[in-house]
Amino acid sequence: QIDVFTLGETMVLFQPDQMAPLDYVSHFPKKIGGAESNVAIGLARLGHQVGWFSQLGDDPFGRYVLKTIRGEGVDVSSCQFTNEAPTGLLFKEQLSPEDLNVYYYRQNSAASLMKPEQLNLEYISQAKVLHVTGITPALSETGYQTVMKAIEIAKEHGLKIVFDPNLRLKLWSKEKAKQVLNEIADQADVILPGLDEGQFMTGLESAQEVAESLSHHGDKTVIMKLGSNGAYIHSKDEQAYVEGFPVKQVVDPVGAGDGFAAGVISGLLKDEPLQTVVRRANAIGAMVVGMKGDIEGLPTLSAVERFMKPDDENRD
Ligand code: ATP
Repeated sequence: QIDVFTLGETMVLFQPDQMAPLDYVSHFPKKIGGAESNVAIGLARLGHQVGWFSQLGDDPFGRYVLKTIRGEGVDVSSCQFTNEAPTGLLFKEQLSPEDLNVYYYRQNSAASLMKPEQLNLEYISQAKVLHVTGITPALSETGYQTVMKAIEIAKEHGLKIVFDPNLRLKLWSKEKAKQVLNEIADQADVILPGLDEGQFMTGLESAQEVAESLSHHGDKTVIMKLGSNGAYIHSKDEQAYVEGFPVKQVVDPVGAGDGFAAGVISGLLKDEPLQTVVRRANAIGAMVVGMKGDIEGLPTLSAVERFMKPDDENRD
């Protein structure tokens, strides 16, 4: 039994500890990198049953990705392996605290060859929420078709669709990205853009205008991520800013959006009021940026509740 189903590519991530151009780096600690599996791991840590689907290469890296995600408590039973293509890889290069580059080795990867026929209808239809991002449709035509098929299944079986645009302009053209991200947003119940992504999708400027437009005048819930400023929500019943939590030191901004998405989905599953949901999602985002790595900072429910309390309430 799963509460949430998500799908997308997870690559092996090589992230040096050293700050230097990659041509001078010789040690590459191995981790995993993938937005959807980050969300899945975030949800598992918050106590939910979550299933993640992808296609992996039948190679040591594919097995490593699968074992790592399974080890985090995510159900990987619907994943598939192929001999036709390798598992995707990703290298991060940090030149200074602010200057981070990403090098992908994912073209024609196993995940990019995923096909809609590989989705297990029975498995997905048990879930209450489908989480999709704008990365999978950017991988390939069949990646796009697989996302659209998952959305079709979700609609047929009454799953709530949560969409994080996750714009990646290294993967496709601006024109195609704009068209497809809007197409998926039109199908979603909850949309989680950053302000820049919302501006890109709508051509509008202010958080309010962008959210109003993406929400189809309140038909959908838009929760816009605003970095250290928290988030802005626009739903049928309310429009409001929800303040973020202060962070002592931003160590690594990557992954905050995925932790935020896990917080939102967790709150939706518990039917909590929207502002309560978003307040906790803000706290999770703040915890993630305070720690190096995409998943290391993802909290358990009790850890995020402790983080949200004023300091004096945490004293023994
Ligand atoms: P990502 O880098 O993972 O793609 P994103 O651009 O999707 O992130 P952000 O707006 O950077 O999303 O972060 C998501 C949420 O995390 C924010 O809405 C906020 O709640 C929290 N957050 C991010 N950065 C900070 C910060 N510096 N201080 C406090 N909270 C933060």
